[in-house]
Amino acid sequence: MTVVVLRIGHRPARDMRITTHVGMTARALGADGMLLAADDPKIKESIDKVVCRWGGDFFVKIDVDWKKEIGRWKESGGMVVHLTMYGLNLPDAIGEMRGRDLLIIVGAEKVPASLYNLADLNIAVGNQPHSEVAALALVLDHLQDGKELYRDFTGGERKIVPTRSGKQVKRTAIESCLR
Ligand code: SAM
Repeated sequence: MTVVVLRIGHRPARDMRITTHVGMTARALGADGMLLAADDPKIKESIDKVVCRWGGDFFVKIDVDWKKEIGRWKESGGMVVHLTMYGLNLPDAIGEMRGRDLLIIVGAEKVPASLYNLADLNIAVGNQPHSEVAALALVLDHLQDGKELYRDFTGGERKIVPTRSGKQVKRTAIESCLR
């Protein structure tokens, strides 16, 4: 199962931090990559740096055409899932998503109306307004039944040794990530 997040509606001046959080959350909770429908290289730089330092092979592609990406995803047999408070509530539709290659779309500002029809599923994480980061996190967690929290991230410079108090970090390679 491949899971890629498509972030649309990103406004560089306003959404820098939250879009970075969408990418970091997607990576940390088991998605394979993020497509960003905006030309904002800083987002890619900062998430690439996290991957270099902490491992895994999460990718970020910027400046994508979101309609083309949706078309490509459907052509290859994948399912397009739009996260919106107006959709079917997650527990009622998660069964349809399991085992499928998923393109999970999250908005920032109001999303284009056409998206509701282009998506195979419109999914709400509770039918109340909240945040794309919270919605994405819960969808990824439900999809993997919590197993993503034990995922091993290989190839990074650093690895955390979980401790009850303080901080323990193992250096796994020579420091090479760009500052
Ligand atoms: N004001 C915008 C609108 O009217 O569409 C929504 C802004 S909301 C902070 C940004 C994104 O968070 C939405 O596009 C959606 O992807 C996600 N989101 C917010 N609440 C959600 C919910 N209850 N379930 C699923 N996704 C949600």
